[in-house]
Amino acid sequence: MHQARTTCPYCGVGCGVLAHVDDDRLTDVEGDGDHPANYGRLCVKGSALAETLGEHGRLTRPRVDGVEVDWDTALDAVAERLQATRDAAGDQAVAAYLSGQLLTEDYYVANKLFKGFIGTPHLDTNSRLCMASAVAAYKRSLGADAVPCSYEDLEEAELVVLVGSNLAWNHPVLYQRLRTAKTRNPLMRVVVIDPRVTDSCEIADLYLGLAPGSDARLFNGLLAWMADKGKLDTIYLEQHTRGLDEALAAAREDDCTVEAIAADCDVDAERLETFFYWFASQLHVVTLYSQGINQSSSGTDKCNAIINCHLAGGKIGLPGAGPFSITGQPNAMGGREVGGLANQLAAHMDYDSPGAIQRVTRFWSKASLTPTLPEGPGHKAVELFEAIERGEVQALWVMATNPAVSLPDANRVRAALAKCPLVIVSECMADTDLMPYADIVLPASSWSEKNGTVTNSERRISRQRGLLLPPGEAHHDWWIIAQVAHRLGYGEAFAYEHPAEIFAEHARLSGFENAPDHPGHRARMFDISALAALDREGYDALAPIQWPVTADVPHGTARLFEDGRFATADGRARLFPVRPRGPVQALDATHSLRLNTGRVRDQWHTMTRTGRAARLMNHRAEPFIEIAPEDAQALGLGDQQLARLTSATGEYRGRVRLSRGQRRGEVFVPIHWTDRFSARALAGSLLAAHVDPLSGQPEAKHGAVAVTPL
Ligand code: SF4
Repeated sequence: MHQARTTCPYCGVGCGVLAHVDDDRLTDVEGDGDHPANYGRLCVKGSALAETLGEHGRLTRPRVDGVEVDWDTALDAVAERLQATRDAAGDQAVAAYLSGQLLTEDYYVANKLFKGFIGTPHLDTNSRLCMASAVAAYKRSLGADAVPCSYEDLEEAELVVLVGSNLAWNHPVLYQRLRTAKTRNPLMRVVVIDPRVTDSCEIADLYLGLAPGSDARLFNGLLAWMADKGKLDTIYLEQHTRGLDEALAAAREDDCTVEAIAADCDVDAERLETFFYWFASQLHVVTLYSQGINQSSSGTDKCNAIINCHLAGGKIGLPGAGPFSITGQPNAMGGREVGGLANQLAAHMDYDSPGAIQRVTRFWSKASLTPTLPEGPGHKAVELFEAIERGEVQALWVMATNPAVSLPDANRVRAALAKCPLVIVSECMADTDLMPYADIVLPASSWSEKNGTVTNSERRISRQRGLLLPPGEAHHDWWIIAQVAHRLGYGEAFAYEHPAEIFAEHARLSGFENAPDHPGHRARMFDISALAALDREGYDALAPIQWPVTADVPHGTARLFEDGRFATADGRARLFPVRPRGPVQALDATHSLRLNTGRVRDQWHTMTRTGRAARLMNHRAEPFIEIAPEDAQALGLGDQQLARLTSATGEYRGRVRLSRGQRRGEVFVPIHWTDRFSARALAGSLLAAHVDPLSGQPEAKHGAVAVTPL
């Protein structure tokens, strides 16, 4: 028996886990008391990790056209069919769809193969569904996709504002840290802004149950209120920002009396002004936001409206202060670091970052091998499946995710997959909703077997360690991708034998030609070049560390922008003018209820892992529809009754749960159930595929549905 340190594979908190390993079995887990994300805590999902393991249900052999084959045959088939697609339809007919469940090393190798050597920009990730709007807003305001805060800022704040975040369920350990901090500091206040009354409200001093989609109006109103009451930090604004006048002018295009804002947001005016006063009078304010803000057709603007208020009050770059986006997935940030988004190139460089294409080309070149990088961004997730539908993308490699469930308008996505000439699926589990569409299936390793790094929501890189052997013939994703690269003729650039070599290369690229006087420097906050010298031993022993990690800051960086210099060309942050827009999915006479979707406390994604632990199923055992009692009564629905939701695009069946925390005219359904568990409980099928125009993030919080008894 021995103990090993690793990282929880579920949410973006990224808790450290102490795993107890007995021979070839992981018998138990506990929180790692030395990990700065959780200091020994685990939530119910993390503490049940040992119960979710085992070979039952795992994919253990490759399959080609439904027939089990050996790895050589499968890898040859992948390479030959990808090449045939390129020859017949061009490099850009090939695409990849990745996942925030992949490790950074997997992501890096995939990005290098697809963008670097196949030459297609069409590589995107399910992280697009999670935090793309937050990324776009940080870049627009701060000049880089750089989360300014650390978790300890939540504990040091005087005011914590949770917007569109049910922290208690979705980032439970962070919620525990906040609750403890509030107990220790009775002066700390917590405000929850959310259409639903959630468990996070238990520690709220003030709750604003705003109308869905009115967040930007509320924060625009706050900005105007701060200006009107003389609560702007004029010195900070003058020295470190630009754009205040434009942002204020945009906010004032709407009536900025508290009463008018309250009416538009459907909240009590007195409570709203109390929030405004609290926000404006405290310096140490953290606004923490998540999918309730991001999953919107105007998510980027909503994030910018929040950031504007922080910049206007100088509430950033200080202990206990900042606009803090919390990612959903364990490695949503690691994927961003290596270019896992279709609009990124690599190492936080965009296609239009000065000299980026040439720099990455130089870095990836070998003596006899020159990469052929695309010239511009590729299709974001929803666009990618539309391109498949049009027949433009003809070969898709999906890794560690299930677009047949998680994307909006899921039935249309399934139809697109059905007509795609080549679908390759790398997956741990044998039976998923995606498998019927797969021509080639590749068995991948899973948590406790994979060996690499992830980055959590506070920019902290942690090791996920390989503790057990993968079952059957399952292999690591980076190995599978590198083997295909060899067969495509790029072996010289993919001669990896261990993930430590990939990490070192990734770290070198993060600092490559990133000298302080280089024109792209300020836009490249992501620099971990001080970790490039790690050998296997050093990599194995790597302790959690927050980027940037450079020669100047070898122990990492807890907080960004402390010097008031931002990652923009002139070093100033920008207040961005925001004009609030409502949801695109319109209610009508038939579909008159506003649909909200989200996670439940004890489940993760499509439950392929968490669904294996009996105690995790006890919390919510079946698909459900939460609805206000008054609405249920008006519609003839009783508690626990089966009902059907219908939209213009799909249908969902679940059991009615009456909830006093639900606003009238709105319903909530969980995203976890799929057709495998219960016929027609596919939340994604109810949502139309509208996205934020800048970030491409789908509007998953604002469907339009009807409900009828079953
Ligand atoms: Fe895992 Fe998130 Fe729970 Fe931590 S809070 S144990 S990372 S699921």
